[in-house]
Amino acid sequence: MSELFKAASLARSNVKEMTPYMSARRLGGNGDVWLNANEYPTAPDFQFNERNLNRYPECQPANVILNYAAYAGVSPEEVLVCRGADESIELLIRAFCEPGKDAVMFCPPTYGMYSVSAETFGVEQKKIPSMPDWSLNIDAIRDNLQNTKLIYICSPNNPTGNIIDNKDLVQVLEMAAERALVVVDEAYIEFCPQYSVASWIANYPNLVVLRTLSKAFALAGLRCGFTLASADVIEILLKVIAPYPLSTPVATIAAQALSIEGIATMKHRVATITDNRIALSEALSELPIVEKVYPSETNYILVRFTEANKVFKALWEQGIILRDQSKQLGLTNCLRITIGTETENVRVIEAIEALC
Ligand SMILES: *Cc1c(COP(=O)(O)O)cnc(C)c1O
Repeated sequence: MSELFKAASLARSNVKEMTPYMSARRLGGNGDVWLNANEYPTAPDFQFNERNLNRYPECQPANVILNYAAYAGVSPEEVLVCRGADESIELLIRAFCEPGKDAVMFCPPTYGMYSVSAETFGVEQKKIPSMPDWSLNIDAIRDNLQNTKLIYICSPNNPTGNIIDNKDLVQVLEMAAERALVVVDEAYIEFCPQYSVASWIANYPNLVVLRTLSKAFALAGLRCGFTLASADVIEILLKVIAPYPLSTPVATIAAQALSIEGIATMKHRVATITDNRIALSEALSELPIVEKVYPSETNYILVRFTEANKVFKALWEQGIILRDQSKQLGLTNCLRITIGTETENVRVIEAIEALC
C-alpha cells in the first residue's frame, strides 16, 4: 500500500512545479562568518520569564502594536504584526489576489519572496525589469496595470541597496489608485529612516509599508514583522491571518525591542554597521578584481567582481559565506555581502585581497 502512495500525485500542480526558496540557512555550508542573510552579526539581550504559556496569546498583542505605532509614527489601527515581513507578503496575496485571475507585479532584480509567494498561490507574476540605474520603469508599470492587484516595490532594494525615488513612488501610487495596492518593502529602512514613506499612509489609501525586526533590530530568529496601511486594509488582512500568529515569547521580546531603550540600542547598531559598511566599501573598491561596489543605504553591499564565482568559492572554503546574486537579472558577476563585525569585515577584505 505505502509504495503506491505518492505525495506528489496529490499536490497542487503549481506546487509540484516549485523549487523551494533557497534561504541562507538552506544554502548551508560550514561557515563561521555568515554574511549571506543580512542578519545583525551579534545577539541582542532580552528578558523572558513569563509563566503563562498555558494561555493562548493575543492575536495582535496590544503593547507590541502600540509601541510599533509610536515608533513608526502611525496610529495603532494602521499596524498589523505577524511572523516577519515574509508573512505580510503572503497575507496580502491571500487577501487580495484571486488565483488564475489577478496578478502581482515586482521589478527585478529584487527580493525573491514576492515571486515565491505568488507562485504558491497560483497568482500571475508581472516582472517589470528595473532601468539600468535600478530606478523603476514607470511606463512599463503603467502599461501592465491591467489585473494587477499588488505592486511590490522594495526600497531600499534588496540586493542592489538603492532607494526608489519618491517622485517615482508617487507616480506609481497615483496610477494605481483605486486599482492596486502599492506595497513598499522597507525591511532595511532603519539604515536610512529619512527615506521612509510610512507617513504617506494618511494620504494614500492604496499604500502598504512592510517592516521587520529581522535586520536593524537584530531579531531575525524571532520572526516578527509589521504591515502598515490604512485601517481598511489592515481590517481585511485580519480576516486571513492565523488566530495566534505570535507566540507569547515573541510578543514579549518584540515589545522590549520596541521600548525606548530598545530603539536607542537599534540606533547604535545602525551607526556601527554604517561605519563598517563605509570601511568595507572603500577597502573593496581599491582591489583590482573588484569592478564596482554599488552604493548602499543598508547593512549589505552589492559588489561586481571580474569573476564572482571564483571569489564566492574561495571564501566559502574559508568559512566565509556570501550570497551569490549572479543569476539575478542584470547582476552577472555580482555577490552580496552583509556587513558583519569589524573583525569579520577584515577577514573578508584579507580573503579577497589574497585572490588578487
Ligand atoms: C529580510 C527581508 C524580508 C523578510 O523579513 P522577515 O521579517 O525576516 O520575514 C522582507 N523583505 C526584504 C526585502 C528582506 O530583505
